[in-house]
Amino acid sequence: VSWELTILGTSSATPAWERFMTAQVLRTTTQTFLIDCGEGTQYQFRNYKIKTGKLGHILISHLHGDHFYGLMGLISSFQLQGRKEPLHIHAPAGLAEILTVHFRCTQFFPDFPLQFHAIDQANGQVIYDDPQLTVMAFPLRHRVPCFGFRFQEKATLRKLVPEMLPPSFPFHLMHLLKQGEDVVFEDRVYEARRVTLPPRPPKSYVFCTDTAFFEPVIDFAKGADLLYHEATFMEEHAERAFYTAHSTAKQAATIAQRAEVGQLLLGHFSIRYQHLNGLLQEARNVFPASFLAKEGEKWQIGAD
Ligand SMILES: [Zn+2]
Repeated sequence: VSWELTILGTSSATPAWERFMTAQVLRTTTQTFLIDCGEGTQYQFRNYKIKTGKLGHILISHLHGDHFYGLMGLISSFQLQGRKEPLHIHAPAGLAEILTVHFRCTQFFPDFPLQFHAIDQANGQVIYDDPQLTVMAFPLRHRVPCFGFRFQEKATLRKLVPEMLPPSFPFHLMHLLKQGEDVVFEDRVYEARRVTLPPRPPKSYVFCTDTAFFEPVIDFAKGADLLYHEATFMEEHAERAFYTAHSTAKQAATIAQRAEVGQLLLGHFSIRYQHLNGLLQEARNVFPASFLAKEGEKWQIGAD
């Protein structure tokens, strides 16, 4: 049931201080997602032994190079590795044009099915849905169209207490009980609240880069177990953050605090900072459960 996030890149604009360009892998029970694909992503796959067999969906937040220049190399490697599984790419519409020109000029066309899905809605848009979870894209405030993503597990089932049921109890009635419905079996009523335990809370992860401080994010991030929010700058560079449509660590923490998330993960660090403790302190002053994203680190999302 576990969800695991692996951080592959935390630098903004260019690589520096051993930090890579933005990319993360989120493994859920049903699907593996790559979120952004900065240059060097496939090296990080190797460095951290990321298996790509179940990687079915790539989500690109926006079309600034530091978030997607790794895509061509990755697609090319998938081809060389003999990939057969379909690959879905979700991104702002312009990427379809870039891919088309790239494939035409290089005379390279993947043999595996590659499907492009444009993200273009102004308000929340469901871009992925399966029986276990949904992924919603929502707008951020940046210099080009840019989207955040919320990965939301669907309602989980109640847990049966086996001692409360006779051995012959039918399976389909168990399923109704798990959904919270009372059932009748051999003239006896079994109340869901008596023979089952409450379900665990559904998991949620929110990814949010690149963006200026943008209040609508609070609603989209509401109650998430983990929020990744860009924190390109420290407060002393707040003006620069404003003009480049990025956030400070303090602003990221303000979003986290007002959205009442479980934990905040800071990333997309400016190359002007070799050491990041100052950023972390500024965030923790506002939201104590703040952490720095770091290449290779894994985060378990929600309770199992
Ligand atoms: Zn950007």
